[in-house]
Amino acid sequence: MHKTIQPSRRSFLAGAGQVAAAATVANVLPFHAASAKEARATRIEASAFKDLAGAVKGGVLLPDDPFFADMARPNNLRFNTLPAAIARCSSEQDVQACVAWVRKHDFKFAVRSGGHNYAGFSTTPGLLIDMTLMDEVSLLSRAEGLVKIGGGILNSAVYKALERLNCTITHGRCDTVGAAGFLLGGGIGFNMRMLGMASDLLHSTSIVTADGTLHDDIQDSGADKDLFWACRGGAGGNFGINTSFTLRVVPVDTVTFFNITWATEVEEVLHTLLTRLAEAPPEFGSKISATVPANSRPGTGRPITVSILGQLHKCGTTLEAIFGPVLEKASQKVIKRDIPYWQAQDLLSEFTYPYFYQEKSSYMRARDITRDAVAAMFRMARDMPGTSLGNSFKFFQVGGQVNATAADATAYVHRGYDWLFSSEVNWWDRKDPKSLVDQNLDWQERFYADVNTATKGRGAFQNFPDPSLKDWATAYYGDNYARLRQVKATYDKGDLFTYGQGIKPA
Ligand SMILES: Cc1cc2nc3c(=O)[nH]c(=O)nc-3n(C[C@H](O)[C@H](O)[C@H](O)COP(=O)(O)OP(=O)(O)OC[C@H]3O[C@@H](n4cnc5c(N)ncnc54)[C@H](O)[C@@H]3O)c2cc1C
Repeated sequence: MHKTIQPSRRSFLAGAGQVAAAATVANVLPFHAASAKEARATRIEASAFKDLAGAVKGGVLLPDDPFFADMARPNNLRFNTLPAAIARCSSEQDVQACVAWVRKHDFKFAVRSGGHNYAGFSTTPGLLIDMTLMDEVSLLSRAEGLVKIGGGILNSAVYKALERLNCTITHGRCDTVGAAGFLLGGGIGFNMRMLGMASDLLHSTSIVTADGTLHDDIQDSGADKDLFWACRGGAGGNFGINTSFTLRVVPVDTVTFFNITWATEVEEVLHTLLTRLAEAPPEFGSKISATVPANSRPGTGRPITVSILGQLHKCGTTLEAIFGPVLEKASQKVIKRDIPYWQAQDLLSEFTYPYFYQEKSSYMRARDITRDAVAAMFRMARDMPGTSLGNSFKFFQVGGQVNATAADATAYVHRGYDWLFSSEVNWWDRKDPKSLVDQNLDWQERFYADVNTATKGRGAFQNFPDPSLKDWATAYYGDNYARLRQVKATYDKGDLFTYGQGIKPA
C-alpha cells in the first residue's frame, strides 16, 4: 500500500502563474537571445504561452510575475540567465504538455529541479521547465525498504521524510540541491562507502522521453532496462524528464560525528589522512578540505588549514584507531559520539546562498598520492591569487561499496578510486574584478593539471560539471560513453534534450 508521507504543493504560486500567463503576455515575445539562431528559438507568439498555461496545471510564470527572477536564479550566479517563461510542472501530464509544447514550437528549454548545476545547464533564455512542485514522498514498502520521491523534490524534503521513517540513503549535505540532478549524476555523500553511490540505490524511475511517452517505473530488467542503466549516472537533462524515483533505503542507528582542523604541519597531515584513511572501514565517511582563507595574500606565510568532516557508523572500531597519532596534532576537534543519525546530519548539513564559482574534479588512488605531490599542492595553493571568498581544494572519500559495483554495471563509471579531488575558485563579482577572477581561473587550470599529473588523477565527476573541460565525455563517462550514446539514439535521436556537455545520439 502507498502511504503518503509528505504531500506539499505551493498552490498559491501555481495559481498565480496561470492567471498571469493569460493576462500579461505581449503579441510577440523575443527574450534575451544571444544569437540569431537563439533569437528564433526564443521568439514566439503570445498565444503560444496561453496554450501552455492552459495545459500545465501547475502554472506558467512570465517575467513580470511575482518572484519570477528569484525562481529563475541558479545556484551558480555566473549563469543567471532569465528565461522567457517558467512552466511549473505538478504532474506527469504537465511534463508531457511541456515536452509537446517545446517540440511544437521548436523552443529552447531547460529542465530544473534544485538549480545547483555548476555549469548552468539548467538555465535557458527559453522555457524553464521547473519540476519543484513534484515533491511528494511515499513509503512503498517498509519490508522492502522502498521509498518513492517526486521528480522535482529538494533534498531537504527527502531528508525530513527519511528522518520520520528512521532510515537513510547515500545523500549529500546541501538541503537545496534537487534529488533529480543529485541521483542522475551519481550522488555522493558520507554514506557512500557503506551503501554505494546514491544512483546504486535507485530501484526504479519514471521518465518522460522526447516523444512524450511516460516510461513508468523502469527498472534493471524489462524493455527500458538500458534507459534505466543510463539514469544511474548518465547525468540529468540527457534522456528525458524524470518524474519520480524509487529508492532503496536502509534503517539508521547512531553515528559519531567529527569536525577536526589542523593549522600546523599541514603537508604531513594531509598526506597522512589521504593514505591512512583509505584503509578505514566502509562505515567511515569523510571529506577533507585544505582552505585558502578569504582575502589572504599569496606567499609562504599564507595560513592554509586542513580540516576533515564526517561520520562513523557503529562498526566495532573507534575514530582514534582509524586516525592514529595525527589526531593529537589537531588544533581544533569537535567529536560527538553515538548521536542519533539525523541529529548528526544537522551538524553535517550546509547552506549556501547563490554565488559565483568554478570547480574542477578528478579521481585518485591513495597509493598514487606521494608526499612530494602533497607538498606541491600546498606550494601552488600558497601562490593562488585568491579572492574575497575562501577557496578550498577538497577530497571526498570514495572507496568501500562505491567500488563494489563494476564500472559498466551502471552509467556511473568511476569505480576503483579512494578519493574524488576537487578544486574550487569562488568569487563575488562586486568584490573581485574580472581580471582577478581570470587570474584565479588560469591558476586553477595549472593547479588541476599539475595535481593530476603528480597523482595520476583522472576522470571528472559528472555532478560537478566543468564548462572548461575539453574532453568532458571521456572524463565524465569513460568507456560507458558509447553505450550512453546508443541509449540516447534510441530515446532521443533528434537530440531534443541538449546542452553544452549533453550526451550526443550515436
Ligand atoms: C552547494 C552544493 C552542494 C552540493 N553537494 C553535493 C553533494 O553533497 N553530493 C553530490 O553528489 N553532489 C553535490 N552537489 C552537486 C549536485 O548534486 C549536482 O549539481 C546536481 O546535478 C544538482 O541537481 P539539482 O537538481 O539541484 O540541479 P539542476 O540544475 O536543477 O539540475 C541538474 C541537471 O539535471 C537536469 N534535471 C533537473 N531535474 C531533472 C529531472 N527531473 N529530470 C531530468 N533531468 C533533470 C537539469 O537540466 C541539469 O542538467 C552540490 C552542488 C552544490 C551547488
